Amino acid sequence: MSNHKKFYINGEWTDPADGVDFDVIHPGNEQPIATIALGSKTDVDRAVDAAMEAFKTWQFSSIEERVSLLQRMLEIYNARAEEIVKMMPHEMGTTMSFSREVHMPVGVGHMEAAIEAVKAHQFERPSMRGGSTLIDEPVGVVGMITPWNWPVNQIMIKVAPALAAGCTIVLKPSEYSPLTSIILAEVIHEAGCPAGVFNMVNGDGPGVGEAISSHPKIDMVSFTGSTRAGKAVTKAAADTIKRVSLELGGKSPNLLFADANLEEAAKTSVAACFINNGQSCDAASRLLVERSVYDEVVALVTAEVESTKVDDPMKEGDHIGPVVNKRQFAHVQNLIQAGIDDGARLAVGGPGRPDGFEQGYYIRPTLFADVNNDMNIARQEVFGPVLSIIPFETEAEAIEIANDTDYGLAAYVQSSDSERVARVSRQLRAGIINVNGNAGDFDVPFGGYKQSGNGREAGPLGFHEYLETKAVTS
Ligand code: NAD
Repeated sequence: MSNHKKFYINGEWTDPADGVDFDVIHPGNEQPIATIALGSKTDVDRAVDAAMEAFKTWQFSSIEERVSLLQRMLEIYNARAEEIVKMMPHEMGTTMSFSREVHMPVGVGHMEAAIEAVKAHQFERPSMRGGSTLIDEPVGVVGMITPWNWPVNQIMIKVAPALAAGCTIVLKPSEYSPLTSIILAEVIHEAGCPAGVFNMVNGDGPGVGEAISSHPKIDMVSFTGSTRAGKAVTKAAADTIKRVSLELGGKSPNLLFADANLEEAAKTSVAACFINNGQSCDAASRLLVERSVYDEVVALVTAEVESTKVDDPMKEGDHIGPVVNKRQFAHVQNLIQAGIDDGARLAVGGPGRPDGFEQGYYIRPTLFADVNNDMNIARQEVFGPVLSIIPFETEAEAIEIANDTDYGLAAYVQSSDSERVARVSRQLRAGIINVNGNAGDFDVPFGGYKQSGNGREAGPLGFHEYLETKAVTS
């Protein structure tokens, strides 16, 4: 029987206290594909009670026990990989090939990195002057709230290190991508996770999300989502002084210097904005181009955007699919119109659906040139296949424009001059600097400056987020 309308609490699939039905919509055709239950504070209370009880023993579990749980999770995850691959295009519109080649392997990467991190960690060590002992312990019951845009990634980047650290968990995945999360919960169950160590309650932000953020018995909230919701989580968490780790939105700049390989850079620039249908927190949505090559780059990028195909996410291929839902479709359409109204030059695309699509949340791949960094299109997170090009004269001006944003998640630098790359990277106020399109490995921390958040996920630093340090004097 399907677990769609159930919650995973204390090692069992249980009925909600008083769940409200919520249809999961396929963004490619706007048809419901499943109905889930949205939970309530009562469901969160039950999950927290189970997590607190389980913490009494799981906090003292051996490293071998945690590693072996993660290894079993890996095996079962790999065995169910194709199911996971197919679910993501259904519920959030990423394309089948991208789901297989990127979304799915990322889950493996985070589980493996968590295993490496816990094995390498020195849980007990002398203090700097040697007079005391410092002991790292799990932080406790962790509430996790995740978005829909990278369903496996956002969950495994939290769950794997938290389990490795000895924490117990209450997860609320996004109500727009609950089906992948249900499979992941089944994987964790099948792997033999002790009852109460991992719990999952589906629900929306104001209901289950707020019940988690404000819960007096939850020790930490790890939140990934919009800056808007991150502020609400922080306020709701304040009264209980719990640890709050935030991974929020972005408006990442991509600095393209004249000495880069321009053909390559044009391709990289469009891909860095349009991957996952433009729905990545670190999307390189502001392309800053040195004036001396501006016209040439605009022409190259125009050709690249024009050649971007839009199609059904259920098909294999290198096309892009729709955005996730009606609200997101309206938001992207509004920002495209704002770009036109603010006077940016529409080079490709524009409002409305691409030709041939009457249904589904499909967006025309859109390029704006001659954008000014004060325009809405340059300041607000679009979360769709919309790229803005901004010219700059000097390196100093490029850095100034790049840093002139409320966000600070990622920045991209494209140049063949390694000294320039190092100099510019040091001055960019962002947590991740991607150089010439080369992504970091799973040991590299992911997180933002400014309103992009305050946490670091993945690898040893991501693991460390789930630890408290105790000093024992002697
Ligand atoms: P969202 O903020 O609307 O929702 C994210 C999660 O928070 C969902 O589970 C939602 O139900 C919940 N939520 C919403 N309001 C809440 C509230 N008041 N209290 C508690 N929980 C609440 O974001 P989204 O549309 O699901 O995801 C897109 C956003 O996530 C983008 O802004 C993107 O940049 C960001 N994101 C950031 C990262 C990162 O690592 N920095 C990664 C992926 C996505």
